Amino acid sequence: MRAVDVIINKRNGKALSTEEIEFFIEGYASGEIPDYQAAAWAMAVLLKGMNSRETADLTSAIAGSGEQIDLSGVVDFAVDKHSTGGVGDKTTLVVQPMVAACGVPVGKMSGRGLGFTGGTLDKLESIPGFRVNLSTDEFMAQLRDIGLVLAGQTADLAPADGKLYALRDVTGTVPSIPLIASSVMSKKIAGGAKGIVLDVKVGTGAFMQSLDEAIELAQLMVDIGIHADRKVVALISDMNQPLGNAIGNAIEVREALLTLRGEGPRDFREHCVTVASHMLSLAQNLSSFDEAREKAEESLVTGSAYDKFIEMVGAQSGDVSVLEDPNKLPEAPHIETYSAEEGGFISMVHAQEVGLTAMELGAGRAKKGDPVDHTVGIEVHAKVGDQIDADQPIFTIHAKNERESQSASERLHKAILVQENPIDPLPLFYETVT
Ligand code: URA
Repeated sequence: MRAVDVIINKRNGKALSTEEIEFFIEGYASGEIPDYQAAAWAMAVLLKGMNSRETADLTSAIAGSGEQIDLSGVVDFAVDKHSTGGVGDKTTLVVQPMVAACGVPVGKMSGRGLGFTGGTLDKLESIPGFRVNLSTDEFMAQLRDIGLVLAGQTADLAPADGKLYALRDVTGTVPSIPLIASSVMSKKIAGGAKGIVLDVKVGTGAFMQSLDEAIELAQLMVDIGIHADRKVVALISDMNQPLGNAIGNAIEVREALLTLRGEGPRDFREHCVTVASHMLSLAQNLSSFDEAREKAEESLVTGSAYDKFIEMVGAQSGDVSVLEDPNKLPEAPHIETYSAEEGGFISMVHAQEVGLTAMELGAGRAKKGDPVDHTVGIEVHAKVGDQIDADQPIFTIHAKNERESQSASERLHKAILVQENPIDPLPLFYETVT
């Protein structure tokens, strides 16, 4: 079999056989198939699609490209969450400590920024000293000892996804339902989770722009999970405007810390409580969803989730003093707040434009392996439906210098629209797929 023939078959719209998919994924993971062929193949998949059998085969091939972790010796019922990617989506930083604080150990292997969306690992690395590269043994030991780990994919876990993920980020091949579904589910299956909460984002700042597409992706992932004998719930959540206020790396960590201390933005807090409650419901034998919500809320109110986060940062060599005083997190050289040009009601905060502006400031990557600037980013001070006065602060830009701040502000003024008439706030969630 030749890689080029597999690419040509997909380019011509043919369904790939199980053998072709296994051959291609094994070849790419081992280095026999080079990046340029994998990029052409990923583009062919994006343009021609895959049926559900091909997507299931792709998921198994990626999950089987490395080790499969068995967490049963460490956790009674391992539960995990995964977001399909959004702007300002710092949910993992808050939800995993909440769930761990409620007595359900969680070990999550997270990703880096993808396209215009941020990544948990890039955010965590703004904490000086924080180690995301743990060996499988270190991962298991920490999970056993403190019940919370946030780390990068170990080299052995779904290595084909590790390579493909970084390649897709810079080749315009992210927004493909089969590629996203197989990427997410291969990691969750190989990572040993028995219960999985999927946060499927929809809107301008998501890879799925319409509700129909988001439901299709959610259903496909739920089906793949069920076939692999996992309990899966998919929440379809809004990503037409950024989640919370902060978009960047260090500034998102700061917002996550505030939320863990009970002071974060209302929408983000509510989003985290909902996701955490679903995880608790999957993992524990609770009498009702309300009981799960109560527990999740309590972890924020009592500070137990915050304490768990600090414990994890210490265990992963991060500088804990920075978290106790978030002002010690790295700061951009130029921070400037801009005002609204007119009063009225916010009708749009275009999440993708905000994400792209944050990337342009240096918060994301243009090429595979590029470093990210942890200090830069954007804080948006208003949400769709809010009433604002002319001259009210509307966003703050954290930039390398004044020139970059000015250029970002021009872009943001066009991305945030104000209208005369009142408008309803956007919902946080649209549907739940089980
Ligand atoms: N998250 C992933 O892990 N993979 C994707 O392709 C998109 C979001």
